[in-house]
Amino acid sequence: MFNLVLFGPPGSGKGTQSENILTTYDLQHISTGDLLRDEVSRHTPLGTEAKKYMDQGMLVPDEVVIGMISGKIDDTPDARGFIFDGFPRTRPQADALDKLLEFKNTKIHLVLALDVPEHELIKRLVHRGTTSGRSDDTEEVITKRIKEYHAKTKPVADYYNEHGKLEHVIGDHTIEETFKTLSKHINKYLLPVT
Ligand code: ADP
Repeated sequence: MFNLVLFGPPGSGKGTQSENILTTYDLQHISTGDLLRDEVSRHTPLGTEAKKYMDQGMLVPDEVVIGMISGKIDDTPDARGFIFDGFPRTRPQADALDKLLEFKNTKIHLVLALDVPEHELIKRLVHRGTTSGRSDDTEEVITKRIKEYHAKTKPVADYYNEHGKLEHVIGDHTIEETFKTLSKHINKYLLPVT
């Protein structure tokens, strides 16, 4: 099994690159943003709770997100591996993920961090807001999300760096160039299937 964390601020391209990676390497995609939006659209109790935080650009409480992830990993016991996209976003989430994977006799092998300058992130997200229909893609909420990233999510990169798992990739080149650089790192662990 090979498990990858795709790391980076809102708008850094994690979703786009995840799509490329999962088809090239036959990995399962776990995006907490997508899972939460699905809960919101189905009006589940979890979704109703999560929406309050998401609409303000704040992180959803750890216990809500961790519970959701655990079930998702169990859904595909024969997976070649997982891409975690938008998770872990706090130190407690990173610790919980380590425990979940240890229980399955596996671990996080690699963390790829997409680096994109802040002015480019805001530009991309405001533009996405005009087409995505996402209620959190307004300039005010975007600024809050980036603040949450610096305060709570950046320390997760330090944690993986201390364990020698973190690699930085420039995320404001073209989609293809960025994917090529990401692949070079992944190829050290896993061969493409396509
Ligand atoms: P982005 O990275 O572009 O902000 P996501 O789709 O990953 O978007 O997440 C959207 C929102 O969902 C976040 O602002 C947050 O409220 C919530 N969310 C997603 N993943 C997590 C997580 N791991 N922990 C807490 N909240 C999360």
